[in-house]
Amino acid sequence: MTKRIPIPIVAEQSSSREGRLRPPPSGIVFSAGQVNDRLNRPLRDLRLSVIDQCNLRCRYCMPREVFNRDYEFLPREALLSFDAMEHLVRASIPLGVRKLRITGGEPLLRKGLTELIARLSRLQTLENAPLEIALTTNGVLLKSLARPLAEAGLHRVTVSLDALSPQTFQAMADAPDIDPRSILEGIEAAEAAGLAVKVNMVVQRGVNEHEILPMARHFRHRSATLRFIEFMDVGSTNHWSSSQVVSSATIIGMIANHHPLRRVGRSDAHEVSERWAYADGAGQIGLISSISEPFCRGCSRARISAEGGFYTCLFADQGTDLRPLVDAVALGAPLLSAEGLQRSAASLAALWQGRTDRYSELRWQQSIAEHRIGEKTNAPGLSSGRVEMSYIGG
Ligand code: SF4
Repeated sequence: MTKRIPIPIVAEQSSSREGRLRPPPSGIVFSAGQVNDRLNRPLRDLRLSVIDQCNLRCRYCMPREVFNRDYEFLPREALLSFDAMEHLVRASIPLGVRKLRITGGEPLLRKGLTELIARLSRLQTLENAPLEIALTTNGVLLKSLARPLAEAGLHRVTVSLDALSPQTFQAMADAPDIDPRSILEGIEAAEAAGLAVKVNMVVQRGVNEHEILPMARHFRHRSATLRFIEFMDVGSTNHWSSSQVVSSATIIGMIANHHPLRRVGRSDAHEVSERWAYADGAGQIGLISSISEPFCRGCSRARISAEGGFYTCLFADQGTDLRPLVDAVALGAPLLSAEGLQRSAASLAALWQGRTDRYSELRWQQSIAEHRIGEKTNAPGLSSGRVEMSYIGG
């Protein structure tokens, strides 16, 4: 049996260089308010993985030679319960979290997901606004689930779709039986259910750059916003090479040659994509340029894995196991009690305050120094044992 890829998750991790995370004693008072990390970045977005399994085997995320039928995914009993998830989401809100993204693996494979979303959709931010809830999916199951998800309180959905042509889609997703038209039907069902929709296309040179224009044309004049993502060195199984990166500047050029564009920019410093608008009013596209234009300075995202690992960077080589914290809190008070939530909020704040992550920026600086933009990933100071994207969500 294929062993699980060792997930770098530790029971107790330094919450700062001086101290270690321990569940604070009961009775501790945490004062709600924005919490900044060591680079003065607030915590605004929480990404919660609900399962590590997926029904596709995209080559850049879950290559089948690793994630095959013998691969040991998390057993059901290892997944965080909905009570534990709600506890951790609630505990993060006093720190300033405004947006929650449900991820996987493929989150629509998690049983009872609509129940979880219904619970979380009742939460309010520090500013007394509804917590914004989004979900990232490959779209395979979206057609039938879009309406129940919307009715449960989901606000937005981001659908991964890398090609319109069946041949390219099936090669990239390693899914010979899936027709990309079924994903498009899922997108239409989501729009019909009232969800705001974004479509993410990972662009890989030699694989699907010929799909850039067809995808752009398909989503012009539609409410769904298409976003192009530079192929990234996430995880350690996707055999990333800088030669396979198509830069955002190249993508913009390819589209603008046929459909003139004007730069719109970002709505705030924490938005990952830069928006461009079609000059003829046909809508907008987004560019996510982790390789050519890193955005670590504005990164306000934390991630929790399906088994309770807390990660402060997509490229982290280590996380913190939150389960001992949740268990310790549950021993002293109900998980959703004010006292229990305050204890976890204090611990999450300590973790965030110790954060120094800026992987993409370091990668970029190094490649600039070498005059080879984006060429090296495992340079000194940059980790090669990165956590897999399928484990913590993209
Ligand atoms: S590399 Fe890490 S710190 Fe930088 S933007 Fe990505 S997730 Fe944020």
